[in-house]
Amino acid sequence: MKRRRFEILLTGIVQGVGFRPFVFRLARRHGLQGYVLNRTADVVIDVEGENGSLEPFLRDLQEQIPPAAMILDLAVRERTPANYSAFEIKKSEAQDRGTPLISPDIATCDLCRDELFDAADRRYGYPFTNCTNCGPRFTITRSMPYDRVNTSMSRFRMCPDCQKEYDNPEHRRFHAQPNACPKCGPHLRLVKADGQEVACDSIFQRVEKELRAGKILAIKGLGGYHLAVDPFNENAVTRLRERKGRWRKPLALMVRDLESARELCRLSKAEVRIMSSAACPILLAPRRPESRIAPSVAPGTVELGLMLPYTPLHHWLLRNLRALVMTSGNRTDEPIVIKEKDAFERLNGIADLYLVHDREILVRSDDSVVRVMEGEPVLIRRSRGYAPSPLLLQHEGARVLAVGADLKNTFCLLQGNRAYPGQHIGDLEHPDAEHFFHESLSHFQRMLNFEPEAVAHDLHPGYFSTGWARRMDHVETHAVQHHHAHIASCLAENREQGPVIGLAMDGTGYGDDGQVWGGEVLLADCASYSRSAHFEYLPLPGGDAAIHEPWRMAVSAAVHALGEDFEPSRLRTMSRDEERITALARLTRNRVFCPLTSSLGRLFDAVSALLGLGGIAAYEGEAAIALEMAMHEGGNRYRRVPGRPPLPLFWEERDGQLEIRTGRALRQILDQIERGKPRSRIARDFHGSIVLVLADLCDELRRRHGIDIVALSGGCFQNAYLAQVLPALLRRRGFRVLCHHKVPPNDGGISLGQAVVVRERLRKR
Ligand code: ZN
Ligand code: ZN
Ligand code: FE
Repeated sequence: MKRRRFEILLTGIVQGVGFRPFVFRLARRHGLQGYVLNRTADVVIDVEGENGSLEPFLRDLQEQIPPAAMILDLAVRERTPANYSAFEIKKSEAQDRGTPLISPDIATCDLCRDELFDAADRRYGYPFTNCTNCGPRFTITRSMPYDRVNTSMSRFRMCPDCQKEYDNPEHRRFHAQPNACPKCGPHLRLVKADGQEVACDSIFQRVEKELRAGKILAIKGLGGYHLAVDPFNENAVTRLRERKGRWRKPLALMVRDLESARELCRLSKAEVRIMSSAACPILLAPRRPESRIAPSVAPGTVELGLMLPYTPLHHWLLRNLRALVMTSGNRTDEPIVIKEKDAFERLNGIADLYLVHDREILVRSDDSVVRVMEGEPVLIRRSRGYAPSPLLLQHEGARVLAVGADLKNTFCLLQGNRAYPGQHIGDLEHPDAEHFFHESLSHFQRMLNFEPEAVAHDLHPGYFSTGWARRMDHVETHAVQHHHAHIASCLAENREQGPVIGLAMDGTGYGDDGQVWGGEVLLADCASYSRSAHFEYLPLPGGDAAIHEPWRMAVSAAVHALGEDFEPSRLRTMSRDEERITALARLTRNRVFCPLTSSLGRLFDAVSALLGLGGIAAYEGEAAIALEMAMHEGGNRYRRVPGRPPLPLFWEERDGQLEIRTGRALRQILDQIERGKPRSRIARDFHGSIVLVLADLCDELRRRHGIDIVALSGGCFQNAYLAQVLPALLRRRGFRVLCHHKVPPNDGGISLGQAVVVRERLRKR
């Protein structure tokens, strides 16, 4: 038989994820000879065998890759056979060019979990068990390359048993950098608030007892501390909220296993798949009304945020418990705590006991949050399990750093044909977030050996992020309009250039007329945009204050709808006193204190507050979420598209732009509230009308400009109705629809768009 030989060059996340042992086993299974070799920035597979045996190998190589591996590029070259006699793993080679990629942290694999619960195994009950297929990566890595000496495992010396596993290419712990066992690895301690160690026979038994008694535990995890409490104990949950200063924002739950998850929520197949993926995010899913979860866990929503245990510590912690509240260990709005010292200082007065360990967390990383839309994950927060994975771009170009927006901040680095979005930082208004930003950015820059040629920032002159960008030395800076960045981000992750009809349906972003934009229809490509339609401007009483006090937006909307007929008594459902309403109504006519906004998010806030669903928001978007939840009241998830728009939303041409007029629709809503129409039906009408008017608008723009691709971005697409019903409707009408699945549709995805816009501008210069 004739022999053939392939040289395969791979880049991506192919180091520290069990890739070489996988190739080794695969090659043997296919009866092939040759070698696999790690180089600094790629992996080479030189493989030969009988004619016809290489193609199946190549197929399996791509289809069966380890869960945490990610192939970005694969090139195959046929070469003259070298008559290799066996398949081997060659010693790594250093290259002077290129950067290796580090893997995100990976949830405990099935094999490690089985060992954990196997009383005969030497790692029985050991909370730091891991292998090449699972365990900590990004959060324990100080610098590159990813070797034990460059991680926080460097201070632990492997015992002979562990070393043997580490050196054996056939073992699943071959070159598992964080490999450890009870003899040689990290250990737990249970500590009181005063730093005194708690004397007890079994730490976990004690922890379980305390949790069952309603105590609050600070638990050191993978990317930071959690605060844990019994979710079936209302008093305990309330105490946690009071101490943490977090009022209504839902708390995430960690559930023991899928069975426990299904007891709490109805889960689709796609939801199960995403929940149990290597990233193991918090999944937002519809809860079962009969679950006995304490009301304070997630007040005012029909969903729960669930995640599975993703470290051996979590698995062991939950072995006798069905679920735990696991919320990030911080005071509200502060970055998540990672160091013992900070834990004792900042969680002082919140936690009763501290479960800590001596494996240092080097990189902060919050739990990621995902909602499943149309069977696909949509990231609400992209962090642990996803960062620092890159996205593959269509083209190469300049090295650009983008600093994101001020809320839900992330940064993004473009290098070669890759984009590296950083992990979720949070709201920059908090002084500690600035520290987190710089710490994380310099970590990425070190890992990637990255110096920017240009820096991208938001157009908003008052943003912290804008200030930082402008203060940077020796590098040019560029402002990018917020909603253009949203659309460009959607284009980039879908590897499209445009032009598209971009629907940026959002909270707030600085517009190029100085007003507050947020309901924008842009004709856009990656370099430029024009605003072709937007929601009608409404006064935003008190500016940013209106974000936290949706009742202000409701008054503004009512004045707009009723004009001279406005009476404070028409806003009875809001239960605010008439004097304040009257005063605010007067204020809406004052342009100095009231900028104008075209935001769809604020329109949702207004309608929500008019329906009495929450005049004050404990967190951004709470009112809008309440309006979405109101749709589902007394029934299943509402997904229908009305045949005709139930509310009179329509557009008019004004100064060369189309303006979606909202006055008559709002007036009709006010009349319906007065007549006592159920709020679930008003909420459905409102959602349905928004979807219809946007789809009609896309039809109109297709007619005018011949563009039939629509990109959907902006915070409003966290709303499951908008994110599922609108794309389905647009597809039925013959559009191609681009949505977000890799970076969040909210401001967490902005930095990718900013970076891409600036790179395109530089290219066209
Ligand atoms: Zn494992
Ligand atoms: Zn050991
Ligand atoms: Fe935004």
